[in-house]
Amino acid sequence: MKRALVTGGSGGIGAAICHRLAANGCHVYVHANRGLEAAQRLVEEIRAEGGSAEAIAFDVTDAAAVNAALQPLIENEPIQIVVNNAGIHDDAVFPGMRPEQWHRVIDVSLNGFFNVTQPLMMPMIRSRWGRIVNISSISGIAGNRGQTNYSAAKGALNAATKSLSQEVASRGITVNAVAPGIIETSMTENTFNQEAIANMVPMKRAGKPEEVASLVAYLCSEEAAYISGQVISVNGGML
Ligand code: NDP
Repeated sequence: MKRALVTGGSGGIGAAICHRLAANGCHVYVHANRGLEAAQRLVEEIRAEGGSAEAIAFDVTDAAAVNAALQPLIENEPIQIVVNNAGIHDDAVFPGMRPEQWHRVIDVSLNGFFNVTQPLMMPMIRSRWGRIVNISSISGIAGNRGQTNYSAAKGALNAATKSLSQEVASRGITVNAVAPGIIETSMTENTFNQEAIANMVPMKRAGKPEEVASLVAYLCSEEAAYISGQVISVNGGML
């Protein structure tokens, strides 16, 4: 059974990804930061569906905490599937953006990818099989007013995806980014109303977390072995 770590598994998109990977036969580490109870509820749901999962908690910006949590899990065998989904936004127009808004968003959404993925690489490389999926954003491709911090983090994540994919391709490891548009989760519920969504999205609706999860699950599958270094959008026709 392949083991999969989904960061931000306690959130909207992350939970849908956890369900899909478990349904595909993975043992899923449902990661949370402050939402450990939500992660534990999700683990119960997955087990009730016949899947295999456990909850794990750490702040992705705290490299020491990440290592302390992950090292025991990879002592004997690799975690071969990693979905870097934890992310935050904290929007402000650039002249008024406080330094802590800039640094915190970069820290979670970009440095978190480094802190979580790097310790898992050598065991994954030795096993000659791996799947890394980074949840990026349309903002990292097109930019978005009020999101210079978030766009910078997600754009850099896209670029890191391409570089890392080239480093590890010969070891049977694929690295891809999935770039959602507007997806129905707590992150967006107070940001867009239906009229704004209809104006922005050709399909005139927000996406569902499951519509992101199905692509992520495919990229994590055996069948997707020849897809790497790509940034794939799930955005209802935006851009
Ligand atoms: P949610 O707010 O529902 O979930 C965010 C997740 O990130 C939570 O599980 C949260 O953990 C975790 N997280 C936040 N900060 C930290 C931290 N410091 N350390 C560890 N984990 C942390 O968001 P979504 O499900 O909507 O978003 C998931 C991903 O998709 C994000 O990367 C987001 O940028 C991206 N995205 C979302 C879009 C959307 O429209 N919803 C559009 C484009 C991209 P906890 O709650 O346990 O603290």
